[in-house]
Amino acid sequence: MAIDPVCNMTVYEELAVSCEEYKGKHYCFCSKACREAFDKDPDLHANKPYELLQS
Ligand SMILES: [Zn+2]
Repeated sequence: MAIDPVCNMTVYEELAVSCEEYKGKHYCFCSKACREAFDKDPDLHANKPYELLQS
């Protein structure tokens, strides 16, 4: 299980559209749109504090 850093949804890896490693962390995406948003500006999404991802 992983957290989609773009929309903050919990994503099951087997259901994710795609997953990737970024700076040593594993991210999965619920949709192609989220994947594209992440690829456009990975640091914007990857640097969110963990507490933010929980909400
Ligand atoms: Zn998403």
